[in-house]
Amino acid sequence: MRDLTTLPKAHLHVHLESTVRRPTLTAIAAANGLDVPDVQNAELGGFAAFFALNTLVRDALRTPDDFRRIAYEYCEDEAAQGTRYAEVSFTAAAHGERLGDLNMPIAAVLEGLAAGREAFGIETRLILDHSRRRPVDRAWATLRLAERHRDGVVAVGLAGDEAFPGDPFAEVFAAARDAGLHVVHHAGEAAGPASVRQAIGTGRTERVGHGIRVLDDPDLVAEIRDRRLPLEVCPSSNVALGFAASPAAHPFARLRDAGLVVTVNTDIPAMTGRPLAAEYALVRDTFGYDETACADLARAAVDASFAPPELKTRIHTEINAWTAATP
Ligand SMILES: [Zn+2]
Repeated sequence: MRDLTTLPKAHLHVHLESTVRRPTLTAIAAANGLDVPDVQNAELGGFAAFFALNTLVRDALRTPDDFRRIAYEYCEDEAAQGTRYAEVSFTAAAHGERLGDLNMPIAAVLEGLAAGREAFGIETRLILDHSRRRPVDRAWATLRLAERHRDGVVAVGLAGDEAFPGDPFAEVFAAARDAGLHVVHHAGEAAGPASVRQAIGTGRTERVGHGIRVLDDPDLVAEIRDRRLPLEVCPSSNVALGFAASPAAHPFARLRDAGLVVTVNTDIPAMTGRPLAAEYALVRDTFGYDETACADLARAAVDASFAPPELKTRIHTEINAWTAATP
């Protein structure tokens, strides 16, 4: 089996805040006068550890240099995975409100991503996510930031605790679609099929972030299959956060077998310790996929992406070359 870092890939579901290298987090936190708790030991602690790490990242990132650095290093790490194109989630308005400068974090991140493209040849676009727990006003602020930075932002969407409803934000995302932005929501991760129905209905989502719980509802599976709505599946994240008992128990293969468009993603690679090529290797080894299946998964992600057509064509050509070179 070949090293899957050599397989050209697109990455559709990954949070910039959950890609920060541990030494970088330590350095940034120290420079900003924060103690770094022993998060190393918390890695297997599920949701509590995840939120502790998120809180640390959020408190640590303060200056334009901090945001530039994590974006640039993300490009280096992602390019090393064989990723040619990534849509990276970033909670821009939350950082901007926290720091009293709404535009600074996203502007600095886009500078870091541009420098990363120059240095490592990887194309990236941002997805600006908004937590369902937060006010609708901030969702509007998120949309305004997306419109202001149209060159670097490809989509907006809801993330966060799925116990909070998506309907209060329906107007924001209708406006986003009207403005020509794409919309991608998290749904069907912690919450059941109803959350997915909301996302694909009034939520106007074009893909489903996670969506692993659609299997609870055969009618919903049929609708998603018929509409060819891609799922952004993140197996290691689901296991780390307790939504699947183990990789073998994960519904990844059942989702594919149901005829759904399934893509492989990492979500929170700094916490799971599993970057994108390792995530592909995990599903290959867990479900007995061959290299043709791995290439098909890579193609599905390219097709499900919002990349420009010429970039999609280029990555498909590279994937075909990879397949043709199979020993
Ligand atoms: Zn996510």
